[in-house]
Amino acid sequence: MELLAALKGRAFAVGEGGPRGVNAGFIKTERGTLLVDSLVSLADGRFLVETATAKAGPIAGLVYTHEHGDHVIGSAALVTVMGAQAAQGVEVLASEGTAAGIADFLRRSGAELAKQGISPKAPTLVFEAGARLLWGPEVVVVDLGGHARGSSVVYVPSAKTLFAGDLVFNGTFPWIGHADIDRWIASLTALEAWDIETVIPGHGPVGGKDILGGQRAYLERMTRVIAALRARRASLDEARRALTEEFGLTQYPEYFFQSLTMALRETFGFEERQ
Ligand SMILES: [Zn+2]
Repeated sequence: MELLAALKGRAFAVGEGGPRGVNAGFIKTERGTLLVDSLVSLADGRFLVETATAKAGPIAGLVYTHEHGDHVIGSAALVTVMGAQAAQGVEVLASEGTAAGIADFLRRSGAELAKQGISPKAPTLVFEAGARLLWGPEVVVVDLGGHARGSSVVYVPSAKTLFAGDLVFNGTFPWIGHADIDRWIASLTALEAWDIETVIPGHGPVGGKDILGGQRAYLERMTRVIAALRARRASLDEARRALTEEFGLTQYPEYFFQSLTMALRETFGFEERQ
């Protein structure tokens, strides 16, 4: 984990910097520091909270871009670093979809995580379509959808910086297990019209505005390949093999194939051939 970028002294990115690693970030405001996501483990969350506090001051809030564990679990470090009472004062924001997704995640995995002494923070403030935080600077959070049940972006207009969450995987095949790819493409198309200079993706290196279009084109290529496979009534196995070849996925870890298989079966209706 390292500090990847400090944009105009306002918006900061934290992550591994490599193509697969997960990113989070923080924004320095007059109200205190606003975290954007919280990384995948207690240790990584601790690095985030300590770095954010040192660079930008005490933590005042946390906004989740979406409900996936690799963006949520590290929030447990708020309690271990700040103490239970101070952590209680941290406002935790999420869209309705994200909050519902986190509730499901904690129902599924909360007990197991608690055994390891890890208690991720649930949202305390839930918004519908978006929220504007007039925290100096203004921070805009909008739930656009596409990657997960909730898929919010966090935008700092004065720094022309966008925390894209997992709407952008820069330089790697995206996790599509619960995705609505058409909506994802529409979200990226909308973002391409925003006044943005820097994009902090959910995974992969920080980039310029061009990585929004890059991700959109990648998803469009994926939908074309999938449409062609459906047109020739490919089986689940054939579809998985064709996509593995098309996108060069042979070196990818197993969970990518799980997400790909899930999407091909549940979203696109491919079936095993008997
Ligand atoms: Zn995700």
